[in-house]
Amino acid sequence: MSRTKLLIPGPVDIGEEVRLAMASPSRPHYGREWIQLYTETQEMLKRLFRTQNDILIMAGPGTMALEASIASVTEPGETIIIPNNGFFAKRLITVAEGLQLKIVSPLVEEGKPITGEVVREAIEAHPEAKALAVVHHETSTTVLNPLEEITPQAKKAGLLTIVDAVSSMGGLDLAVDDLGIDFCVTVANKALEVPPALAIVSVSEEGWEAVRARKAPRGWYLDLKTWRWYAEHWGNWHPTPVTMPTSNLVALHTSLMQLLDEGVEKRYAAYAAAARAVRAGLQVLGFPLFVEEACASPLTTAFLMRPGVEADRLQHELRTQSGVMISGGIADLHGKILRVGHIGLARKRDYVVAFLLGVEDFLRRHGEAIPHGASLVALDGVER
Ligand SMILES: *Cc1c(COP(=O)(O)O)cnc(C)c1O
Repeated sequence: MSRTKLLIPGPVDIGEEVRLAMASPSRPHYGREWIQLYTETQEMLKRLFRTQNDILIMAGPGTMALEASIASVTEPGETIIIPNNGFFAKRLITVAEGLQLKIVSPLVEEGKPITGEVVREAIEAHPEAKALAVVHHETSTTVLNPLEEITPQAKKAGLLTIVDAVSSMGGLDLAVDDLGIDFCVTVANKALEVPPALAIVSVSEEGWEAVRARKAPRGWYLDLKTWRWYAEHWGNWHPTPVTMPTSNLVALHTSLMQLLDEGVEKRYAAYAAAARAVRAGLQVLGFPLFVEEACASPLTTAFLMRPGVEADRLQHELRTQSGVMISGGIADLHGKILRVGHIGLARKRDYVVAFLLGVEDFLRRHGEAIPHGASLVALDGVER
């Protein structure tokens, strides 16, 4: 069967074992067997997150868990710092606006990283700020923001720290406790290589204290107080407030077993190798990279167009002629960049090769004399 290969930042193509886990029989989201599955999954997530903190597994998208985290520790009128260098930072700002917070959002050019300096200035200028929320991997530009320059200093200044690690956790090393992250949010459907439906958030002891101290009403489902209550009072039987997508948890458990068995370092290296191969190939074909190597995430690649190539047309023809789906630029970056994901099966050689040969074919169809395979210059280390 031939189907479109997904080389987008998520959802991603996933392995057969995880796909089959989605077809496991119905089961209740409570009781002894469920508790075992749930607890083992939490323990594996703790290892991956490199944290001692509590782990909540919630039904819903990443944005929901980010909204829940911000809502649960803030009252209307309080100040939050959200450095802005892209679409997903803007989403956090919109969420905070909806929660009636005062927002301090130092602006950084799209395609450039948020620096420690920018964060320091914002913290100094706003001693009243209660929290800082930051995107780790800004998927819209592929920039990896240097958390080590950001969250430890925010913590030191007494702020609560909330990190959007939706597209990075599972794809590269992220040491939640060392970095002083109170709320670290991710989803199952990006680098954890599971179908969409589950969001995950780690909550520190200080994070819980802030949740307990908050007075303003914040609904029910999105109030982490509710989640804490169930974990504490029903934890040995029915650990979540609501019905869970049970097959998705089986799939997440399966995927985490695979990842930890294989070894996270090996997985991280495989993503990075796919990124290297794609970047080297694109440069051979004359496409400049959008982001400087020093701050480019190993999980996605953004590239600019070469003269005469229209982004929409290349994206469209890759899909219709070569069976390869990649992503466009969002908002102001539409038409300017294209983005290639390296997570999920996209890290594999057949995906990388299909993409690069697809771009070659496109150029040849449009009159360029490029020898077949000219872009396959850095496939060493790309997983089979
Ligand atoms: C994908 C993504 C989101 C949104 O995740 P949803 O599950 O669709 O809510 C948020 N932040 C980043 C950085 C992302 O890549």
